[in-house]
Amino acid sequence: MPAVDHATYVRMLDRALAGGFAYPAINVLELTSLNAAIEGFEAAGSDGIVQISVAAGMHASGPAKDPVLGAITLAEHTRRVAERAGVHVAVHTDHCPTGKVDTFLKPLIAETARRRAAGLPNLFQSHMYDGSDLPMRENLRVAAELMALCRENEIILEVEAGVVGGEEDGISGAPNAKLYTTPEDMLLVHETLERDGGRCLLAATFGNVHGVYKPGHVKLMPGILKEGQDAVAAKYGDAARMWLVFHGGSGTSTEEIHETLGYGVVKMNVHTDTQYALTRAVADHMFTHYAGVLKVDGEVGVKQDYLASTWLDKGRAGMVERVVQACEELKSSGKSMGSRV
Ligand SMILES: [Zn+2]
Repeated sequence: MPAVDHATYVRMLDRALAGGFAYPAINVLELTSLNAAIEGFEAAGSDGIVQISVAAGMHASGPAKDPVLGAITLAEHTRRVAERAGVHVAVHTDHCPTGKVDTFLKPLIAETARRRAAGLPNLFQSHMYDGSDLPMRENLRVAAELMALCRENEIILEVEAGVVGGEEDGISGAPNAKLYTTPEDMLLVHETLERDGGRCLLAATFGNVHGVYKPGHVKLMPGILKEGQDAVAAKYGDAARMWLVFHGGSGTSTEEIHETLGYGVVKMNVHTDTQYALTRAVADHMFTHYAGVLKVDGEVGVKQDYLASTWLDKGRAGMVERVVQACEELKSSGKSMGSRV
């Protein structure tokens, strides 16, 4: 498929909103997980989103230690590999806290502006600004400024209202944090960012946590999303229903995921579970090929066992399975707009 452009991305998200399904947004940080995400989408016949956090950009940039550079290289790789895939793959950047707006988000938007001026297509279809550490009004003031920059460059902005518990790249929800978005919050986001024709992705919080916890750690209340959408639709009509994002979904039951799909969740971040699937397969290889991957007691090991391509391929295959499972849970399987399946 040709890489996703802005119009295709909007069509993808609107199809999900109307169709009661969501796209997995898979966190990637190097070529193995990135290729696994694309391969998983293709195997599932699902369009999808790959997302790059600030930390992933930093990791990918290697000795340059520049998250902007790393994010661009991962996006470029996605674009080229996705062109050969049978499904659409959009590129998003994940959680950018307020303190990194000037060193991550704005330089990425400037890079897009530079490409566009040179007649080149966008590498990024959306960016996330996470202002959930700020009071709501201040969060939205920064978001509105970024929204204007994004709209000039045909980029969708994702914002977060309320606080998701747990930890993501060192950003942790404050104790006694406001874990539930109110209908008033959702109305305020819509009125601030969308009333003049803009569209944003909104990560509303309903008791979800980043990372994975044993059952009972938090109480999910997906009905919060319905209340918020109903408030927006009651005031501005059904067409105003928002694109919602489910953060911190790892470890959530399929029933709870399905409930959120009915309330307008069109993108679900998947990080912890896919990382575990990759590492699980690598660990299995290491433990079952112990005498091959290590040179034990003066032996020489087995080259085929310790070659990095051997165990990285197993990690990729493990992650592909988990990506396919995510597509099934989110009901995006078989629904690609461009599937050859
Ligand atoms: Zn979040």
